[in-house]
Amino acid sequence: MIALVTGASRGIGAAIARQLAAQGHTVLAHCCRNRERAEQLAAEIGGAVYVADMGSTAEIDRMAEEILRTYGGVDILVNNAGIALEGLYQSVSDGDARRLFAVNIEGAMHCTKRLLPAMIAKHYGRIINISSVWGEVGAACEVHYSATKAAIIGFTKALAKEVAPSGITVNCVAPGVIDTDMNRIYDAETMAQLAAETPVGRIGTPEEVADAVCFFAGKNAGFITAQVLGINGGFGI
Ligand code: NAD
Repeated sequence: MIALVTGASRGIGAAIARQLAAQGHTVLAHCCRNRERAEQLAAEIGGAVYVADMGSTAEIDRMAEEILRTYGGVDILVNNAGIALEGLYQSVSDGDARRLFAVNIEGAMHCTKRLLPAMIAKHYGRIINISSVWGEVGAACEVHYSATKAAIIGFTKALAKEVAPSGITVNCVAPGVIDTDMNRIYDAETMAQLAAETPVGRIGTPEEVADAVCFFAGKNAGFITAQVLGINGGFGI
């Protein structure tokens, strides 16, 4: 199977790419700026690298056209790329807010739109979107981020209903606090506090999120769609 993982150069995306490759899938590792790291990953797992800014529909179009030309489409699409933004709601600039929505939700929706017709033609597809616990419960000082991640949940559920008759499942994972570069915005004290607030007593690993994504991506998950699975150690519920 052909799997496209967006934002695969590091963190959760890299873990998903590695795990899908270990399961025998051909992984197309998408990246934006970290081409070198994506190339290293592709060399390690035997996949190919695609570069596009998920905030640009033109760049997504170009990437999708290349993938369609080379592979005829993808069987598994993991919309993982995302950015975070911290700050009081009223202090976030209009430009930063637009960029966040462009990358986190419009990018995922547009990428899906371009690759969906080939899935429909094959009558098979697994789409997995990455939301966040903040998309479920909301976070102060991350209002825009929470809104984009809530939108991912709405997108997942609605599209799942629309494409279910075409043999395509659409699910979503909502990670809690995971040990990646995204959380370097927090100092050590905040990270310790977040771990203490997590009932299992620690933050999660990218591999634990990847396990859940691979479950949804599997052939045997065909009767599971429109679901939101929390990978959060009990945090935020
Ligand atoms: P990360 O910052 O390590 O990785 C984000 C990835 O997205 C990177 O590969 C980056 O290159 C890519 N990306 C960012 N902007 C892009 C753009 N404009 N175009 C293309 N790619 C772009 O963070 P991560 O923790 O691995 O995040 C992966 C996903 O998991 C994100 O959607 C994030 O919102 C979500 N998430 C993370 C956590 C966490 O605690 N780390 C929690 C909940 C949800």
